[in-house]
Amino acid sequence: MASICPATVIVAKNALDRLDSILDPYRHVVCVSDEIIRGEYGVRLEGVVKRGMTWLMVSDYQDGAFPRNEGDVILGFGGGRSLDVAKLLAVELGCDWVSIPTAASHDGIASDVASVSQDGYKYSKKCKRPIAVVADLSIMSRAPPRLKLAGTGDVLCKSSSLAEWRLGKENNGEYFDDSAYHVVESALASVMRNDSLEVLVKAQIDAGRAMCMVGSSRPCSGTEHAISHAMDRHSQELHGLQVAFATPLCLYHLDQAGYTKHKADDLIRIMRKRGLPVSLTEMSLAPDVFIDDIHHALEIMRKRGRYSVLGGIDDGRLSETIAKLY
Ligand SMILES: [Zn+2]
Repeated sequence: MASICPATVIVAKNALDRLDSILDPYRHVVCVSDEIIRGEYGVRLEGVVKRGMTWLMVSDYQDGAFPRNEGDVILGFGGGRSLDVAKLLAVELGCDWVSIPTAASHDGIASDVASVSQDGYKYSKKCKRPIAVVADLSIMSRAPPRLKLAGTGDVLCKSSSLAEWRLGKENNGEYFDDSAYHVVESALASVMRNDSLEVLVKAQIDAGRAMCMVGSSRPCSGTEHAISHAMDRHSQELHGLQVAFATPLCLYHLDQAGYTKHKADDLIRIMRKRGLPVSLTEMSLAPDVFIDDIHHALEIMRKRGRYSVLGGIDDGRLSETIAKLY
């Protein structure tokens, strides 16, 4: 597995202090971050980096505008947007990049896939994997609790994406990889058992590894993710909360098809216990808007050539399932 993993993964308190040795081969660092993280941890990071460093705030990033030869390694230091920009910039400049997440809000911390917005939609763009992940638990534990909740949702939703992936292989001839499947399956099981930050971060890193192994987001992203992308048209809710919310619906129909190890009701129980939104009211979502999101999601899946467990299910049955679960 070593060849598809980041060479170095550090998940520990004060992991940031160990960044220096990772940067040994490099001369000048470009750090992608935001004002809040820079204000909070900028001096500490500069003390660790001990070489020339240029800051790039995500709000200032423009595709193709950053000067070439400015640095030979990129640090993504912050939340999802900072890591996404670091990935895009690493491809643009042909540099290595290091992932230094400050919150466990999603599974992109070790993946080679960036979330990009276009025409009001978010889509996944394949970039390059980080050479190292430095997950400093002392920093990540200070992030707002809702971000950890979203990160938990982005792992719990693998109960649906994994089952649908297997179904997609059998019904649609989609590429399937047993080892990647099992990596994500055990990451999911660990987060179902244990609510600690360390377990969550390791699960997210494993999910990112699996995406690198397969060369696509498919193991970690099924119809529940497409529904979240459709929700983005009208909602600002965190990605992980959206994907988790859509998961019981997919699980219910995966169960009907005989393809899931996890029942919708069991997942709802875990989500409720962790504090994730599980009802239409908690998501401020009307049933007809949810159904419209599902239609859009099916269109997204169709365009990507991916099988959806919700394909062919009429609105009447969808309404019944929604009434039953949410
Ligand atoms: Zn996700």
